[in-house]
Amino acid sequence: MARSPSPQRASAARPRAPRNTPQGAAVRRVFAEADGPLSVQDARERAERLCPGIGIATVYRTLRRLLAEKAVAAVDIPGAGVLYEAAAGLHHHYFVCHACGRAFVLRNCPGHLQAMVPDGFELQRHDIVHHGLCAGCRTATA
Ligand SMILES: [Zn+2]
Ligand SMILES: [Zn+2]
Repeated sequence: MARSPSPQRASAARPRAPRNTPQGAAVRRVFAEADGPLSVQDARERAERLCPGIGIATVYRTLRRLLAEKAVAAVDIPGAGVLYEAAAGLHHHYFVCHACGRAFVLRNCPGHLQAMVPDGFELQRHDIVHHGLCAGCRTATA
C-alpha cells in the first residue's frame, strides 16, 4: 500500500526518455535514409516533411541520442564543418560544394594510397575532400 517506490519497480523502470515519439522517429529516419552527411538544419528541414512543426531542440535531442548509440557519426569535413551521417561503417569521401556548402558522398575511394607515402612510413587512415560546384548549383549559375 505504501507509495514509496519498491526496488523492483525502480530497476524495471529504466531511464526511460520519450524514446519513440513520432518526432524522434522522424529524425532517425532522416539520418537512416540520407544519401550523405547532413547539418542539423538540413536534418530539421527533412524531418519537417515527415513530421510538420518539429522543432530544432527535438532534432538536437534525438541527434545526441543517435550519437550516443553510435547510430550516427559526426564528421568534420574541411569546407563544410561538422556534419552528421548514419554510421554505416562504409569507407567514403566527400565533395563539398562551395556555393551551397553541402557535402556529398563521392562514388568511390581511389585506394592504393600507401604508394604516395614515403618509404618507411605507415599510412593508417586518409581523408579525401573534393571541392567544387554540385550539379544543382552548377545549373543554377549557368
Ligand atoms: Zn551546391
Ligand atoms: Zn578512401
